[in-house]
Amino acid sequence: MKKSIDNRLIWLDGKIVKLQDATVNVLSPTAQFGANVFEGIRCYWNEEEQQLYAFRLMEHYKRLKNSMKMFRMEDKYSVDELKQGLIDVIKANEYKEDIAARQTVFIDGFGSWSSSGPINMFIAPIPKGRTLNPSKLGMKCCISSWQRISDRNISPKVKVGANYINSRMAQLEALQNGYDSAIFMNEQGKIAEGPGSCLFIVRDGVLITPPVTASILESITRSTIIEIARDILHIETIERDIDRTELYICDEVFLCGSAVEVVPVLNVDGISVGHGNPSRITQSICDIYMDTVSGKSKDYEKWLTPIY
Ligand code: PMP
Repeated sequence: MKKSIDNRLIWLDGKIVKLQDATVNVLSPTAQFGANVFEGIRCYWNEEEQQLYAFRLMEHYKRLKNSMKMFRMEDKYSVDELKQGLIDVIKANEYKEDIAARQTVFIDGFGSWSSSGPINMFIAPIPKGRTLNPSKLGMKCCISSWQRISDRNISPKVKVGANYINSRMAQLEALQNGYDSAIFMNEQGKIAEGPGSCLFIVRDGVLITPPVTASILESITRSTIIEIARDILHIETIERDIDRTELYICDEVFLCGSAVEVVPVLNVDGISVGHGNPSRITQSICDIYMDTVSGKSKDYEKWLTPIY
């Protein structure tokens, strides 16, 4: 049975509470300055097995701990505590559907933007269906007039709430101008990533994606795709800088991330990509990705954590 928003349960500071009671102090640095690091974790319901699988939990917790370290936060939670909190709150909600869980470690208390504590955490599992539906064949994107943040100012490697102001600027500008989303260039003028996703292109049957030093988040979906493309499709990925104009002349472009999964980009700056239809390699990667995350294919069982 689906839960209404009113009945949702959240893990906050070690307790499982009703959403209405999961409140944050308005004077806290997280509320005022976005002083929080977080992960967006997907869990997929496998109807046949009556099981909910969390995808690549250990990689999410490794990145969360790296974000805490770069953000100069005390390493307060063990991986086991991070994982147990997520499992407990999903079970408490009795979710038997696809979900996206936000696991956020934040600066609580009454300090300012430079406060290092007190540190607190919430875990919010929220139902979220799969992104790709056959009626929406792909996205129309522009190259943003906004530059992606860089490791010299606010590092895109730190998954901190405040970073998303840069994403917000690009996304809202893109929507205003009639596009579905934006693609950032970095301070070197090379392609970086989307506002909440990483980018791949296909040229002559080869996958190409910007390197982790191109002002991108070290995306878990990106590394998943590199691995499944190599092992299942026997397609190598070249990690190198991508020029803006390569997006105009390549065969395929797609964005990827835990939330968006694998989404074809059919048009960049008003120029059709390839034939303007989601193409062969993007489609194959999308199919394998969805079978992998939902536990339909057992090739990568090592990446799945059963919740029940
Ligand atoms: N880049 C940005 C800016 C993101 O917010 C995300 C989503 N977390 C990604 C890339 C994709 O990362 P992941 O595959 O780990 O979800």
